[in-house]
Amino acid sequence: MKVIYGDILEGGGQILRFTLPIAAIVGSPIKIVRIRAKRPNPGLRRQHMISVESIAKLSNAKVEGLELGSQELTFIPGSLKGGRYTFDIGTAGSTTLVLQALLPVMAFTNGNVDVTVIGGTNNPMAPPIDYVERILLPVLVSMGFNPRIELIRRGFYPSGGGIVKATSTPIEDVLKPIRILEFGYVKRISGIVYSSRLPPHIVDRMASTVEKLLSKKGYDIVLEREVLQPSNPRCAISPGCGILLYAELSSGFRIASDRLGVKGKPAEDVAEEAVRDLESQIEVAYPVDKHLADQLIIWMALADGESSIATCELTLHTLTCIELAKQLLGVEFEVDGGEGKPSKITCRGLGLKIVR
Ligand code: ATP
Repeated sequence: MKVIYGDILEGGGQILRFTLPIAAIVGSPIKIVRIRAKRPNPGLRRQHMISVESIAKLSNAKVEGLELGSQELTFIPGSLKGGRYTFDIGTAGSTTLVLQALLPVMAFTNGNVDVTVIGGTNNPMAPPIDYVERILLPVLVSMGFNPRIELIRRGFYPSGGGIVKATSTPIEDVLKPIRILEFGYVKRISGIVYSSRLPPHIVDRMASTVEKLLSKKGYDIVLEREVLQPSNPRCAISPGCGILLYAELSSGFRIASDRLGVKGKPAEDVAEEAVRDLESQIEVAYPVDKHLADQLIIWMALADGESSIATCELTLHTLTCIELAKQLLGVEFEVDGGEGKPSKITCRGLGLKIVR
């Protein structure tokens, strides 16, 4: 049985979310040891346990070591099967990170999958649901995987309780490769500013800060405002707010930056940070933001033929995924750049076919 060390490079939860979907899709047993060993709270947390459990359900897997805090896991997958599933993280743990692990499995499942995940939808250190919908999803669609992702209710720390639904039909045969290299120019800056259970002036102040800072630079700005109060079924149980901005490029791609509101931090500061982050990425003029890069590696490794992306910043997360693609699938990536720098990343994907 292949053994993956959970303390390589980044040494966090992503090692689990990369390894298990691959094991499930390829159908090979895997052991992961030293899970999240580089984190102050090592081992499986609720969000990771639900990621494991959900992949195990879809792949009829036998799992050993699935306990809170466990640092060792054995995963023996069976065949993938579609169906309707609900997974409740039970805390404000990130639903989008559970989806990050599940989406590749859904793509290769020969049947429709309908998954509801309950937990946080807008968390620190995880893609906001808005990012999954607007930034990741268009790339997956261009690869021939077209899931529907629906935000039923927002979920913030500490209560969570957010609800996200993802439904999918299988890919046709293989995933198409991607080529995201061209930047072109910024056509407009779009985004969403959202809040739940907070006075409307929070969203207004974030939106006007963005408009003030970016219109000075001559950009066209299209901002959606979502102010939810408890009478709206989409409103979160705990109060919260945040912002997602993305530059829509003439080449058709999007680079994004996002921030969550923090209690005690002025709304203007939250918005300004998001703006500054976006501006610094626009300056680099590469069309893939640093978070999207790590999220695309698994898809590039599975796709049929050569994929290339140019990212504003190569992170240790991305390097970790690249290393795992090599260890698990024998797919080698070429990196022109270096950690912390703008980089071009290329691989010849496996061209894995869906099993009918
Ligand atoms: P750990 O378990 O080690 O505490 P984790 O399981 O919470 O970590 P990481 O391994 O740190 O997760 O991976 C976080 C994922 O979330 C990565 O794919 C990263 O790109 C993504 N991510 C983090 N912050 C953002 C953000 N602000 N916007 C978009 N994506 C993000």
